[in-house]
Amino acid sequence: MALNIDRLIITTDETARAYLKRAYDIAWNRSSDNKTKTGAVIVSPFKNYISKEISNGYNHLTPGVENIPEWSERPLKYTGTVHAETDAISKAAKNGARLEDSIMYMPWIPCTLCYIIIKNSGIKMLVAHKEMVLMSPPHWEEDLNRTIFLAERSKFPIILYEGKIGGVKSLFDGKVWEP
Ligand SMILES: [Zn+2]
Repeated sequence: MALNIDRLIITTDETARAYLKRAYDIAWNRSSDNKTKTGAVIVSPFKNYISKEISNGYNHLTPGVENIPEWSERPLKYTGTVHAETDAISKAAKNGARLEDSIMYMPWIPCTLCYIIIKNSGIKMLVAHKEMVLMSPPHWEEDLNRTIFLAERSKFPIILYEGKIGGVKSLFDGKVWEP
């Protein structure tokens, strides 16, 4: 199996690179996950030359179980972890920030559940980093392909930034690398 990214739109836009860098920085500096650190940035408004960050998030264990060792490992880790995308969206809800017509920058492609929440929140577009998407571990492919399928069915654009980000580090599937 492979990821069905062939029909996704490619960009080399500088704004995309800058916000993806911000998402990688948030992931590296704030995520406590010991295997994969992800970050997401939500920017508003869509279709405007002046953009503004309205929320951000990173993957982390839900409060209260950080120091319980079994919750830091699979399978409980999967149950107790808030993903970067839903972290950013739920923080926006907490802060009363409207997400209609905004853009999410998230280096990786969202899991199906996160995609459904992204789509329902009013976010209009997602920008990911092609290099990180291509590193997706095989056990995630089926779920990410479902996200791509759902996005295509609802005409929700997933844009891939092609190129290096520069000046950031990332922990992905247990490996430190430089996007
Ligand atoms: Zn997710």
